[in-house]
Amino acid sequence: MLYLDNSATTKPYPEVINTFQQVSEKFFGNPSSIHQLGVQAEQLLSKARKQVAHLLGVYDHEIIFTSGATEGNNMAIKGAAFALQEKGKHLITTTIEHPSVSEAFKQLEEHFGFSVTYVPVDQNGFVSVEQIQRAIKEDTILVSVMHVNNEIGAIQPIEKIGEMLEKYPNILFHVDYVQGVCKVPLNIKNANIDLCTISGHKFHALNGTGVLYVREKTPLVPLFSGGSQEYELRSGTESLAGAVALAKGLRLAKEDYQQNLQQLIKTKELIINRINNWDEVVVNTPQHSAPHIINFSVPGIKAEVLVHMLEEHDIYVSTTSACSSRKKLASKTLLAMGKPQHVSESSIRVSLSYKQSEHDIDYFLTVLEQSIEKLKNVMGL
Ligand code: PMP
Repeated sequence: MLYLDNSATTKPYPEVINTFQQVSEKFFGNPSSIHQLGVQAEQLLSKARKQVAHLLGVYDHEIIFTSGATEGNNMAIKGAAFALQEKGKHLITTTIEHPSVSEAFKQLEEHFGFSVTYVPVDQNGFVSVEQIQRAIKEDTILVSVMHVNNEIGAIQPIEKIGEMLEKYPNILFHVDYVQGVCKVPLNIKNANIDLCTISGHKFHALNGTGVLYVREKTPLVPLFSGGSQEYELRSGTESLAGAVALAKGLRLAKEDYQQNLQQLIKTKELIINRINNWDEVVVNTPQHSAPHIINFSVPGIKAEVLVHMLEEHDIYVSTTSACSSRKKLASKTLLAMGKPQHVSESSIRVSLSYKQSEHDIDYFLTVLEQSIEKLKNVMGL
């Protein structure tokens, strides 16, 4: 099997699965219980929190364990909007955010009386600091920009936006860091970020686990009411095994990043250079992009047909992003970049991990070229 859909989800490291199993068996106590099993569970949770905080370069008490980035993004955006609504009701984001961000903004707009400015991207998929700054009004309370775009891999100028926002101490800065973790470094503390979302299953930890970084003293209204387990910001019995497995996955992914980044960059370059030579292919991924995401279109050929054709050869890629592809939509990011409908509808995302061999990639490119050729003949292109 050649799995090239790592931006949708990753295969957990065997060590992660092992950790999850061991913790589930041995430390099943509730971290809030006052007996010994509870105390042991709480100690292990604190250790996982410390490890994650250390790996992200932040303080322990700024780490909130969540059920994933959809929860983290909703919690950050709605929580900040509700906490600051007395000060203002204007919010800023971009046109290429993941649905867990854009739909949260839409809900705030449609049901809670907030106004939202959606800052556009240029033809390569980048937002500019100047445009974000121009969108700021007197009553702006939140800016939310993703770090790495999940469809084309464009890396947004987070550090520069954070620096610009230093002049606006009343505005909170939220970053969806999901696709950048252990792929494109981001210094959360240096970038003046208040809220930052990550998801375990994008770095070989488990589905249903995540972290929201909440900078000390950031005002946030909790979304869930309940036992207030996570620093009174997130209620619900913690997934202890999930949190420990996330800490393990993050450590291993960071090691993979340090050891295998150059190989990953080379693999991406190799794929892009080869497909750039094929007349029928349009490469959508810009130069300044994450090392694991390659997006291209084959106009005239339906993306899902190509995906299923590759699947027959045991190769797994996706059309646009996994979250949108079931709805059979054209790529939202490509449309926002001004690409024509037929290019946006025929886009394929290949997302790498650290594990592909040269042989894997040769095999992928050979099958891809043959499949495109076959489809072109069938369709008379
Ligand atoms: N943000 C981005 C950029 C993503 O790619 C994803 C996952 N597709 C999410 C948020 C949502 O993450 P989760 O699956 O953990 O809810």
